[in-house]
Amino acid sequence: MADCAAVQNLLVVIMDTNPFWWGQRLYKSDESSQLILSTCISNVMAFCNAHLILNQNNKLAVIAAHLNESRFLYPKPGVALTRTAELSANDANDLQHQSENAIAPGDGKYEVLRNMNDTVAEKLKDMILQTELNECFCDTVTAGSLTMALCYIHRLERQLAFGEKLNARILVVKGADDNPSQYMNFMNAVFTAQKQNILIDACILADSASGLLQQAADITGAIYLQIPQLSALLQYMLWAFLPDADARAMFALPPRKQVDYRAACFCHRNLIDIGYVCSVCLSIFCAFSPICSTCHTTFKIVGPKKFAKKKKRSSAAASAIIS
Ligand SMILES: [Zn+2]
Ligand SMILES: [Zn+2]
Repeated sequence: MADCAAVQNLLVVIMDTNPFWWGQRLYKSDESSQLILSTCISNVMAFCNAHLILNQNNKLAVIAAHLNESRFLYPKPGVALTRTAELSANDANDLQHQSENAIAPGDGKYEVLRNMNDTVAEKLKDMILQTELNECFCDTVTAGSLTMALCYIHRLERQLAFGEKLNARILVVKGADDNPSQYMNFMNAVFTAQKQNILIDACILADSASGLLQQAADITGAIYLQIPQLSALLQYMLWAFLPDADARAMFALPPRKQVDYRAACFCHRNLIDIGYVCSVCLSIFCAFSPICSTCHTTFKIVGPKKFAKKKKRSSAAASAIIS
């Protein structure tokens, strides 16, 4: 039991808040597949609450993957990580104070959950109000958010006391399409996660599959789930993503599908099936180039010269026989 108490389960949720994608959802003709950002957020928050109340050692972080930035929604940036206990003590004082005044908006709620829900709502509102749509790209910065999550996990690991263990996993709730220009950074983050035994679960809200997240989930041994019915988002999340890595062996979870292992070429960032690979640095190109643009290796071009000569000879011999 002493061992169990020393294990902390950290879940980092990366939430896609791309306003372009969510805006397009509003004009979907099919009402059954309609899901608006606020409904999705409340589903994800309910899921996060479930994770926190499963065990007192469970920890949570929420990162918003926005247009040109990734932002921590919870815990509050700048708040020292060791202050969680103090915060809950303050919350308890607040509660006492509120009950004395007979007005208690958060009365009866578990303080940790109230603190988390309020922080996320407040931070999200700030971020959406500050978004200037003129100056940004249309793509979600998933790779940046993943890197941020990995850094956060690494920071928590460094702060562990002797004998404590941290089991961390990342859940990406993604709507917008993949951006092949992020391929390099994305895959670097995925291989880092694999090396540190961090699962990257993928919860896909869109109708199209995400090749990059399929690869991420497959490489890290996590679950990739494209939600078949968005109205039941919370049920799907609780079923597939609430159990941690150890408990998953006991559940009948969605089977792994065929993974789209296409890579993006380094020259145009297009996803390709067949390409040229540099034998020195393993860069991938869609067209042949005599010099690798990554490591500047010059390749010897082995043309079919000898073969052509032989052919000439044989054709000469053939002509000699004919004559
Ligand atoms: Zn190319
Ligand atoms: Zn090279």
